[in-house]
Amino acid sequence: MLSIILVAAAGFAAGFFAAYRFYYRRRVEHIASSGSREMAARNEAKDQLAQAASGRTLATLGSMAEGVLIVDAQGRAVLANNALLDALGLKKGAVEGAYFWEIFRDSEVNEMLENCLKHRRVAKKEHSVLLSDKTFEIQVSPIASGSDFLGAVGVFHDVTRLKELERARTEFVANVSHELKTPLTSILGYVETLKEGAVEDVENRMKFLDTVEEHAKNLSALVEDLLLLSSVESGKSALRLREVDFGSMADRVLKAYAPKIREKKITLSREISPEPFVIRVDEALFERAFSNLVDNAVKYTPPGGAITVTAARSGAESRLTVADTGIGIADHDLPRIFERFYRADKSRSRESGGTGIGLSIVKHIVERHGGRIEVESVPQKGAKFSVVLA
Ligand code: ADP
Repeated sequence: MLSIILVAAAGFAAGFFAAYRFYYRRRVEHIASSGSREMAARNEAKDQLAQAASGRTLATLGSMAEGVLIVDAQGRAVLANNALLDALGLKKGAVEGAYFWEIFRDSEVNEMLENCLKHRRVAKKEHSVLLSDKTFEIQVSPIASGSDFLGAVGVFHDVTRLKELERARTEFVANVSHELKTPLTSILGYVETLKEGAVEDVENRMKFLDTVEEHAKNLSALVEDLLLLSSVESGKSALRLREVDFGSMADRVLKAYAPKIREKKITLSREISPEPFVIRVDEALFERAFSNLVDNAVKYTPPGGAITVTAARSGAESRLTVADTGIGIADHDLPRIFERFYRADKSRSRESGGTGIGLSIVKHIVERHGGRIEVESVPQKGAKFSVVLA
């Protein structure tokens, strides 16, 4: 891709230089008589931009997403397109006529251009340019017309986002491996203990097996969540949208959690009007999202607390909320709780079998429905999650 752009840019550059040289020679002859060759050359480079590179060349280079810099054989910039100026935070007109080392102040980029002008060879490199916090794939190439060496062209392809995605993927793999390894190590440890004789220990063997079962269940829940997350994220399977009554959905979910709610002596309030509260969703998926919110409310609310589920309409929007009087979430954690594997309360999450990806699943499901999720919380007072569907 970069090579194609480079060839195109080099093509432009060659035509550009032809017009430039003709104009330049005449102007330098004229200015040289006044004495200042250096100033003349600099002004020339600026002037020629307006004169020679008018019209199509500039328009095309200007509309490219990749940054392009063309320098003459002495290393003076004769053209820098908008993408390059924007990427480096430079003003229009601040570059033309300047030597490339005055523009970049970045030894690696400068070295690439210098070598290209000296040895007339193509060079390619991925590099974080010092002037900005971006990473570019940079390719420099000599420009020649017949036996004439004209200069060099550099194409700067912004790969910052690509790098970020790569980093996120690596981080994800590391997180998943860690999440899988912890329960597996524990399972293997208990099995070994049992095999080494604990199996004869009538009093404790059941406890060991219970722990093994608990870790295996956590593993299974994690794998299930990962599969669901990947299917929702990929957006491959189409949503099966239909009109469903949120009241009935809430009842089903709350019924499933009734034993835990009772056990923790949590007061449950269901503030949904008795008439059907119709929402258009993929029932199975949406129920999973709602269930994750209820699951968290139950997990993070200490015994004796309260959970309130509400549904309200405001204009075209439906707002479904799950509020609790639990441990709440600190301000600095709030923006991150929807990230995969981010846990504000690590020990409580693990203790209660949390996978750390419940809320990212909720967010993806809600967003796939064109909705949004909001959260408010006061630490130690509670948290309120609202799903807003348009
Ligand atoms: P987990 O499986 O750990 O619950 P989630 O993705 O569902 O993972 O939630 C991410 C983190 O957000 C949790 O680890 C917890 O720290 C915090 N959290 C989520 N819901 C609540 C809530 N209702 N009250 C307090 N903290 C919550």
